[in-house]
Amino acid sequence: MFLETVQHFDCSVLSGHRSKEEQNRVFLEGKSLLQYPDSKHNSLPSLAVDVVPYPIDWKDKERFYYFAGYVKRIAQELRRQKVVGKELRWGGDWDRDTSMNDQSFFDLPHFELVDTE
Ligand SMILES: [Zn+2]
Repeated sequence: MFLETVQHFDCSVLSGHRSKEEQNRVFLEGKSLLQYPDSKHNSLPSLAVDVVPYPIDWKDKERFYYFAGYVKRIAQELRRQKVVGKELRWGGDWDRDTSMNDQSFFDLPHFELVDTE
C-alpha cells in the first residue's frame, strides 16, 4: 500500500513492528493507548505502520490529513483490485466515519489493517 503511495507522495515510515519492550515504552510515553500484545504493531508481519509525509513537519497538521486521504484512496483502490483484503483504518478517524470531530485520541501517522464487517 505504501509502496504505491510513495510513488506519488513522498513519505517516511517511522515504525512498523514493535517488540514487547518498544510497545510498553510508547504506552508509558502516552503515544499508544495499548500495551503489548494488544496493538496491531505487535503482530508479525505488522498490521500497523506509522507513516508521515516527507519532509517531516509536525506543525503542518493539514498535510497529515491531506496525506491520509491520499492513502485511503489508494487503499480503496487496492481493495477493489483484491490486492488487499482488509480495510485501512487511520489514527485520525478511528471509527471510519470521516468526521474529525469525534476522536478522543489522535494518532495521525498511524495506519492499520482491520477486518471488514
Ligand atoms: Zn501506530
